Amino acid sequence: MKKLVLVAAAFVAAVAVYVGVTLPPRPIRLSAPTDGTIPGIIHVHTNRSDGLSGPDDIAAAAAKAGLKFLVFTDHGDATRKPDPPQYRSGVLCLDGVEISTNGGHYVAIDMPASPYPLGGEARDVVEDVRRLGGFGVAAHPDSPKPQLRWTEWNAPFDGVEMVNPDTGWRLWAQEANGPASPWPARRMLLSALVDYPFRPSAVMTSLVRPSGVTEQWDAVTRRRRVVSIAGLDAHAKLAPRSADAGDSRYALPLPGYEPSFQVLSIHVKPDRPFSGDAMADARVLMRAIRSGHLYTAIDGAATPASFEFTATNEHGTVNEGDQLGVGGPVTLRVHSNAPPQFTTIVWANGSILSADHHEQDFSVEAGPEPAVYWAEIRATSVPHLERLSWVRSNPIYVRTADPWPEIPSLAAATVSVPIFTATADGWRAEHDPTSLAAVESVPMVGGAELRFRYGLAGGTPSGQVAALACDTPQGLAAYSRLTFSIRAEHPMRISVQLRAGDDQGASARDRWKRTVYVDMTAQDHTFAFDDFTPVGKTHNEKPLMEGIRSILFVVDATNTKMGDSGRIWLRRAVLER
Ligand SMILES: [Zn+2]
Ligand SMILES: [Zn+2]
Repeated sequence: MKKLVLVAAAFVAAVAVYVGVTLPPRPIRLSAPTDGTIPGIIHVHTNRSDGLSGPDDIAAAAAKAGLKFLVFTDHGDATRKPDPPQYRSGVLCLDGVEISTNGGHYVAIDMPASPYPLGGEARDVVEDVRRLGGFGVAAHPDSPKPQLRWTEWNAPFDGVEMVNPDTGWRLWAQEANGPASPWPARRMLLSALVDYPFRPSAVMTSLVRPSGVTEQWDAVTRRRRVVSIAGLDAHAKLAPRSADAGDSRYALPLPGYEPSFQVLSIHVKPDRPFSGDAMADARVLMRAIRSGHLYTAIDGAATPASFEFTATNEHGTVNEGDQLGVGGPVTLRVHSNAPPQFTTIVWANGSILSADHHEQDFSVEAGPEPAVYWAEIRATSVPHLERLSWVRSNPIYVRTADPWPEIPSLAAATVSVPIFTATADGWRAEHDPTSLAAVESVPMVGGAELRFRYGLAGGTPSGQVAALACDTPQGLAAYSRLTFSIRAEHPMRISVQLRAGDDQGASARDRWKRTVYVDMTAQDHTFAFDDFTPVGKTHNEKPLMEGIRSILFVVDATNTKMGDSGRIWLRRAVLER
């Protein structure tokens, strides 16, 4: 018995020494902020999806951490009507959604429910969120988990998560299990586990990693405005490495919401103070977020942050997120309450313009040419966080206009062969055994239309599909694109598909697709075949045109609710080159 007590005492002493050596420091306490910003967090999961608690408990935790707003983003397809903005425990709560696409997760906020499920290709989800008036954020673009990672850098997303603590611990976990020197990462995770009960938010902060996508982000800012933001991705659960998002069976109730809320925050500068009216304040908040009037701060390193970044030239002075016309030399000013041991860096067009600043207030002169500027303050003196941006600004764009989007002009067709004339000859309906579909030609003012009627079977998605099909026995090698005019009874997204024939050997029945938004107004579309992408696994990344035997207009579970029915009208369908 005595021996046991001795062993236990030795163990406790060993743990105490270990904790004493490895425990990350508490955040540096700073003077009160003077920048007029409001701290809050986007990308929080509740128990509506894979989070641990309900909105009230989470808001109470946020209030304790000093936050003023929260944006919930439970996993979903955006068809659920979001809760209206509401104050809970004095915290303004907005309700958004995190949508899974083929190109990663997309956080959509400030929009109504979608009339159909959003999903499928990332560029299409970005387009849908934009049409619905939402603000969309490319989530965790540097996640080591391919299903989560945002990869569609050419899509016109509104914002991007440059920091996401969930990515940080996943990276450590990946390295700890990886073949290349896993021990530093294993030691890091072990320390985190042992130290967590003693200083949870400092431990979580120590796992945050510098952004892995600064280069890609930088390239986007050169083309257009994009909001740099952080997602907390708080679940209050730690799921094992192999588990899917939403799989909670083996999850630990760690880290809690409250310590998570002390790791980082976004600081938004509203154009007028909050009034206490949730609807009005949500509009003020979203206006500032959409304008990029915000910076990210790692509160776990030093708190509370105060930071201002402005640019001045002959046109005047603008704040971070803003655009300034080209006009003479530019003066960039940074004003913060950074501890003197931290380092401020000002960037211009992806290169350091000026570094090694330890002053809290300084200016940097730059030339008159167009440029994208941003500033960061690194937590240089904090162990594990030396390379991390304690504060990360939004860009200031000095230029006359966004060079993007360039809308490519469409060359006139030299070959043009209609595949629909007046009759439904050559067209047919396809459907799974439980669903219904029919096609006929109907006379209309100004010419006949093909009318396609479908009814997908209800219940859980199990291969329900309806398609309007046209056979192309000669293949499509003579053509490069399809032009068509289409409308539907209600807003929907359908998929135009090219299918290889049964005679095509290994690639028999391979399909490629491009989806299209359709509503009550007839719209003309031209789809280039080399813009099509594989449906599932195909033998070739791009469609093999000589082997294509059918063109299909497909209604399926990707963007249609099960049990949905409706009508689609095709007026014109022309193969072109
Ligand atoms: Zn996600
Ligand atoms: Zn998430």
